[in-house]
Amino acid sequence: MGIIKLKTILEIVLVVGVVCSCNQGKPTNKLYAYNSTSAEWFVRIGAKIKKGDTIGEEEWDGLFQSKGYQTYLSYSDSSYKKEQVMRCMDLVFNPKNKSQLDSLLQLPIPLNSNMMEFLVFNNFNAINENMDLAKSFLRDTDFQSIFKGADSIAQTFIPANNGGRDKLFEVSILCADPDGKVIGNAIVLDLNTIMHLEYQEIMQLIAHEYHHNYRNLKTPSIKDPVFQQINKLHQEGLADLIDKPLPPITANGLYPEAVIDLYNATFFSTGEKLKALDSLSVASKQLDFKQSEEQFNGFLKFGGHPNGLYMALLIQQVYGLDTLVQTYNDPIGFIELYQSSAIQNKKQYVFSDAFMNQMEELKSKTPSN
Ligand SMILES: [Zn+2]
Repeated sequence: MGIIKLKTILEIVLVVGVVCSCNQGKPTNKLYAYNSTSAEWFVRIGAKIKKGDTIGEEEWDGLFQSKGYQTYLSYSDSSYKKEQVMRCMDLVFNPKNKSQLDSLLQLPIPLNSNMMEFLVFNNFNAINENMDLAKSFLRDTDFQSIFKGADSIAQTFIPANNGGRDKLFEVSILCADPDGKVIGNAIVLDLNTIMHLEYQEIMQLIAHEYHHNYRNLKTPSIKDPVFQQINKLHQEGLADLIDKPLPPITANGLYPEAVIDLYNATFFSTGEKLKALDSLSVASKQLDFKQSEEQFNGFLKFGGHPNGLYMALLIQQVYGLDTLVQTYNDPIGFIELYQSSAIQNKKQYVFSDAFMNQMEELKSKTPSN
């Protein structure tokens, strides 16, 4: 896995700083769907390995059949990820591996195909060193009030009366890589990532995922490779206004400095990226679907987060947040707003007429039109 494939990086761990300052949402009194069984299984099995107990097949099955891991493992390459969880748990909790673990913990997290493995065992190690906190966090946290606050924040980034507020997905807490994700119709959050945060920070982080949730329910999607790129920029750009700090960032959890540098460089070179998106998109009209898909493979670094955030910030600066959120379910509308913001700003990349015509064509292909 190379840099380009680090799609989920910074999805959830950039929690320092607040961009959202208003709160006009109208949360209801509903109970928010939530479970922490995956994290509880993890803590229980970790403690048993630590004591030297052997973990039977049934217990591993119990762990992986709990809601959070079921969701997590449906994401990609489930057998590899399952083995990774077991391997990293054994490395961290089994006293026999102490010297190996100690020397691995001395190493910087590498920016190569081993990065995810390092992130996972470093993350597990942090749980092991804070088992009491992990238990008390799971036991004592008022998750319902956190979800209510998160919902309220998320709703300030969608228009009023959007009609989708009763359809929030269940949130599961588990122990995995330091990230949070919407996967299918569920949300997973990593325990170590949230248990050290203030309630307000956890709310913002969940609000980001709730925003994806609301947006996904209302956004038309078409299998067009150009549309997919725009969709990513729009999805992450708008949600990142909720919980991401303004670049340049200086740190990000466990991630190595090289990743931080790359994230900042990607943000500040958004104009070049949009220029490339413009020319590749126009050129893709001569390609078949597969060729077009291949040319965009790995095109947006960090899943589109930094470039999308850059675009959203520009629109916010020119038109304000209220106008921006009107396009929360309209990726093409987001591009059109960016375009007029860039024209007004005079210092930003302005898309070509050919590209904007292509947007018009895409708009006519989306199901809502
Ligand atoms: Zn996101």
